[in-house]
Amino acid sequence: MSAKHKLKLALRQTYARILFHTGLHRVVDRLMPRRLTILVGHSVDAPECNGHFPRDMKIDGAKLEHWLKTFQRDYELVTVADGWQRIQQPAGLSRSLLALTMDDGYTDNRTALLPILQRLGVKATVYLEEFPLEERRLNWTHKLLWTLTQIDTDTYIRRYGELTQDRATHEKLQRAGREGRALYQLKRVLKYEAEAVDRARTVDQIFREQGGDERAMAERMYMSWEQARELQAAGIELGVHTQSHAILSRLSADEQRAEIQGCQRRMAERLAAPAVTLAYPWGRRWDYNSDSCAVAEQSRFACAVTSHSGTNDARTKPMELKRIPFDEDSQLHLLVAEACGGFDLLRKLGIDWSE
Ligand SMILES: [Zn+2]
Repeated sequence: MSAKHKLKLALRQTYARILFHTGLHRVVDRLMPRRLTILVGHSVDAPECNGHFPRDMKIDGAKLEHWLKTFQRDYELVTVADGWQRIQQPAGLSRSLLALTMDDGYTDNRTALLPILQRLGVKATVYLEEFPLEERRLNWTHKLLWTLTQIDTDTYIRRYGELTQDRATHEKLQRAGREGRALYQLKRVLKYEAEAVDRARTVDQIFREQGGDERAMAERMYMSWEQARELQAAGIELGVHTQSHAILSRLSADEQRAEIQGCQRRMAERLAAPAVTLAYPWGRRWDYNSDSCAVAEQSRFACAVTSHSGTNDARTKPMELKRIPFDEDSQLHLLVAEACGGFDLLRKLGIDWSE
């Protein structure tokens, strides 16, 4: 990490702590225009269904409940669809809006998250991936994550090399193994550089060799349609997160349309109300492109969400709403500083301490 980046992180921390602990965040909140802040996570810690998830994919339930209670004091908690509609008339809002979103459709969203939301009397939005629900198929990342709880990274890379036809990827993996941060590099190379068909086959083969059972695991990890309907009946918004969680920017416009509208159609068949918002898988700027936004618009979504940090107002591009990621290691003072518009205020002053 460069010295400049370290300094920026330290300044971010100090600024956020001051706003949070002195209550200044309430002053900033009133100074700044009304906004819609969207948080994004994946799951609430529940060992029986997500025990093998890495820390950056889950959060302790009591911690999340405490955070939501804190936010409830200053914000109105809404769904994305509702929040986006209401932020169009900011003058009519007595408080800014905050939406909790959870991606992928994991079982704990029904068993662990919903009881928390109901205790607090708040709504949220859950984005569903079609294939794990409909066909009980796992995308390759979950096979990889689980296999890495069974064998170490070096063993994984060696076996990958024995099975793959994609020599270039194997060489990159070997280099990653030698350079340290092997796990991070392994995921990055497989995600962005491996040939997709070969990757799916190779990852699946190692997963099965280690005793992985795709169907059983999908059933444990992901909700059933019945559970999804229970969420919907409780007022939770369900949105589209594509069929297979592919990186959309790697697909043609037609392939993207199939991923997005396929999931949208399936949800319309299985659920009581149609989905009106979309979350791009992975959601970083390089994971979707202008075709994704065009398809989202043609598919009549009210808005679509990304995974880039920041808050939203009526001028935000509807097909590129920003979201602030959180997980077990996130810090409440930073989330509060984001939500109150603290970093937007700095940007207005020409200081960019956002991540
Ligand atoms: Zn996702």
